[in-house]
Amino acid sequence: MFNDRNPAGSVRGRFAPSPSGDIHIGNALAALLAWLQIRSLDGKLVLRMEDIDTARCRPEYARHIIEDLRWLGLSWDEGPDIGGPCGPYVQSQRLELYEAALNRLRIQGRLYPCYCSRQDILAAAAAPHGLSSEGPVYPGTCRSLTPEEAGQRSLTKTPSLRFAVPPCEIAFTDGIAGSRRTDAAAGGDFIVRRADGIFSYQLAVVVDDALMGITDVLRGADLLDSTPRQLMLYEALGWKPPRFTHVPLLMDPDGRRLAKRHGGITLAELREAGASPQTVNGWLAWTAGLLPEPLPVSPQELIREFRQDQISREDIIVTPDMLRRLHPSLGQRGH
Ligand code: GLU
Ligand code: ZN
Repeated sequence: MFNDRNPAGSVRGRFAPSPSGDIHIGNALAALLAWLQIRSLDGKLVLRMEDIDTARCRPEYARHIIEDLRWLGLSWDEGPDIGGPCGPYVQSQRLELYEAALNRLRIQGRLYPCYCSRQDILAAAAAPHGLSSEGPVYPGTCRSLTPEEAGQRSLTKTPSLRFAVPPCEIAFTDGIAGSRRTDAAAGGDFIVRRADGIFSYQLAVVVDDALMGITDVLRGADLLDSTPRQLMLYEALGWKPPRFTHVPLLMDPDGRRLAKRHGGITLAELREAGASPQTVNGWLAWTAGLLPEPLPVSPQELIREFRQDQISREDIIVTPDMLRRLHPSLGQRGH
């Protein structure tokens, strides 16, 4: 991306963890793959703490995340701990930037206030299937409120702000999923600022990736469904979007995300159990299809052989047997 933040047009990627808990092996896989993608292209990596939802995030988790990523052998060129030209690298310190973007969208008439409660939306949503990661589709109830009606409602309730999705198709090419095409309206008008004043993930991540000059976003496949919304925000804000690559998630044999069970398997507990970072890296690379066997390696050793098209295209089913190869004590955790 050639813009004023990235004049040389060099490759820039990021890790964007939310400090709402310790890093589990699913996060670690996405982080390792993002690191390999960018390091194999000789690019720069940014670490950004996505603590926009302050009620769910804690500074001590942010500290643990930094420790855990370093323990794994990953490195970054800019971040909350080392600074850099595109800081601050912590979302809770970037609120004016989100406010400015929001104002631009507001002036363009792309936003409207929504007074609906969660229950209103659940009751009104005819079809319960929206974007899987984003809850029910908002049926657009408040889009047609007149300014007088909205004024009346605002006397008793603080609204959230929604982005009015234009009728169009969104097409993009994912680095793993390939060519994607969705009806923009399928997900409904989405929130950019909640009623409690918190900016939404969608808005914050777009503002941050754009202003940090990110050219390549690599993240978990759970966010594939969010990408069309983010592309609409890039378009509305007049920014060039990055390339997107969504990597497979670690699942248990019942098809649930490993991260959601037992709080996931964290790097902290592996480290405490005596696992080495090389064992964890080798195991992660093996599950993703980058190594034929889970042999201990450092991230550095994986760079030379790394090819993005080797990454498995499907979610990774982690069996108890596979967990045992990560650490003998984990065999029972798959059940
Ligand atoms: N902060 C998000 C998470 O931890 C990742 C956001 C992104 O990569 O776009 O799930
Ligand atoms: Zn509404």
